[in-house]
Amino acid sequence: MHNNQEIPSRTGAEIWVDTVYQYIIIILFTIEKLVELMKINDNCVGCGQCASFCKKGAIEVRGRARATDACVDCGMCIPYCPVKAIEVPA
Ligand code: SF4
Ligand code: SF4
Repeated sequence: MHNNQEIPSRTGAEIWVDTVYQYIIIILFTIEKLVELMKINDNCVGCGQCASFCKKGAIEVRGRARATDACVDCGMCIPYCPVKAIEVPA
């Protein structure tokens, strides 16, 4: 059985817009992965208070705390650190 319906093709302008859009998404994704807003500095004593507070379960504590890829940089854990080890770089 042959279907005579034409498959709509993208125009040159639409393909150009799609390409730009794809590059914007790729650039934003790369920036999001490179820019870490939240840092844990050397003051960390590994008490684990930040880990117990983080709703994303994004902090591992093995001697010291470390943010995992699950961290969404919300910053909500910052005030819970008793030694001010969690900071947002200026
Ligand atoms: S910044 Fe937010 S998501 Fe990341 S570790 Fe702290 S509370 Fe969790
Ligand atoms: S609350 Fe502060 S000192 Fe305690 S584990 Fe987290 S970053 Fe380290």
